[in-house]
Amino acid sequence: MPDLVRNFIGGEWVESRSGATFNTYNPATEEVIAPVAQSGSADVNAAVDAAKEAYKNWRLTPAPRRGEILFRVAQLLAERKEQLASLMTQEMGKIISETRGDVQEAIDMAYYMGGEGRRLMGYTAPVEMPNKFGMALRDSVGVIGLITPWNFPIAVPSWKILPALIAGNAIVFKPGEDTPATAAEFVRVFQDAGLPPGVLNLVLGAGEVGDFLVTHQGVRVISFTGSTQTGLKVYAKAASIGKKVSLEMGGKNAIIVLDDANLDLAVDAITWSAFGTTGQRCTATSRLIVQSGIKPQLVEALVEKARGLKLGNGLDESVNMGPLVNQKALEKVSGYIKIAKHEGVKVLIGGERPSDMDKGFFFQPTLFDGVERGMRVEQEEIFGPVLSIVEVGSMEEAIEVNNGVAYGLSSSIFTENVNAAFRAIRDLTTGIVYINHGTTGAEIQFPFGGTRGTGNGMREAGQVGLDSFTEWKSVYVDYSGRLQRAQIDTERILNG
Ligand code: ADP
Repeated sequence: MPDLVRNFIGGEWVESRSGATFNTYNPATEEVIAPVAQSGSADVNAAVDAAKEAYKNWRLTPAPRRGEILFRVAQLLAERKEQLASLMTQEMGKIISETRGDVQEAIDMAYYMGGEGRRLMGYTAPVEMPNKFGMALRDSVGVIGLITPWNFPIAVPSWKILPALIAGNAIVFKPGEDTPATAAEFVRVFQDAGLPPGVLNLVLGAGEVGDFLVTHQGVRVISFTGSTQTGLKVYAKAASIGKKVSLEMGGKNAIIVLDDANLDLAVDAITWSAFGTTGQRCTATSRLIVQSGIKPQLVEALVEKARGLKLGNGLDESVNMGPLVNQKALEKVSGYIKIAKHEGVKVLIGGERPSDMDKGFFFQPTLFDGVERGMRVEQEEIFGPVLSIVEVGSMEEAIEVNNGVAYGLSSSIFTENVNAAFRAIRDLTTGIVYINHGTTGAEIQFPFGGTRGTGNGMREAGQVGLDSFTEWKSVYVDYSGRLQRAQIDTERILNG
């Protein structure tokens, strides 16, 4: 049996206080990868204490020095990219080219946030009185709690850990319970890059470990990515004790294809956005909203393309689609096939586990035709390789269908008409809009996040990604050296 995957607390790799463990599995083979420390409240308390202690010095470390450590993180990630990608594929199933991309996001983010060490821009503005100076600074917050899912086991934590660190915070990180080994190897990179002990702590385990973090009085901010159901619970609990919360939750993303679209581009983008990561991305395309004229050729080409996808172990470079993450996911996706049939939807291709694969949580790429607005398969996040096709008569109708769901993460339109493209940019009410590109593939220098049920208005990445992990401090300096009351309006001095 391989080594225990341990917690990382105060700079030490440690077993859980109780000694309890759980296993992490390979979803393609159903084999155990390693036993994992199962944390309890005592482990979370120890991690928060270590973070509090380490915060005292980390907040005083000049940001350019903090940035140098992040550059070193980027270099080490680049050196270990292949090992990290391979472990990730084994632990959560997505194909090796995608797990390399997952690590690359963290490399990009480490360089980007490392550069923030010499920016972290605040601003100055003129002030009302003579001999007075005013400025607004970004300040660190303290101990940050991070709760992340399994589908981007390095990229998503990197969007939180790197901005939180450059801003001078200390962290307790609770990764998804399906990817603890990948999370531990990611944390080891920070240790090896010279991050001081206690600045980044790792506690492993299931949802209750996240809950201990959410309710811990020593944690000032919670940044969460995961399901809407869990995210809203986290939000309510954390808000009741006055915490700032940043949420990234579900999606029900669509690609709109108008009659004048470039068919080849659209087919390629729809295939990879719908079936990449086995449909388990928050930005995955799960609806195709297609204008009537182009629908027959488009659907025919998509069926052909889906039929050609090779399923298998993602470590095999020739494989196009890995398994779903676990048995529960397989049951959920299978459940939606029943729902679709019940709703009168036609299954064009897929809809089952592949009959020739007896191990692993594989599911065939699936296309639903005849989907109508308001059906459950058109409204609910399925999180699997399932695409619902909705036929529309016009662009206006397409936009209405796109906007008519409870989520608002990502949307896309394929058209060769520049006027239609700009109208779509104006009218699509998602946080991310693509023109002639699938719904996935965000870059780290732009805000990432969604409207409506996808989040709570916060964004990750880009400059605004710092907002979750900083407080604004407004500073006024009076350098007159004498009493100025006679010259000024006392009303103003008494304000605020
Ligand atoms: P999924 O497993 O589908 O990604 P979840 O929302 O269940 O979605 O999980 C996202 C993260 O939230 C995981 O790290 C999980 O352990 C954690 N989590 C689950 N339940 C809770 C909870 N009640 N409080 C805090 N964190 C939780």
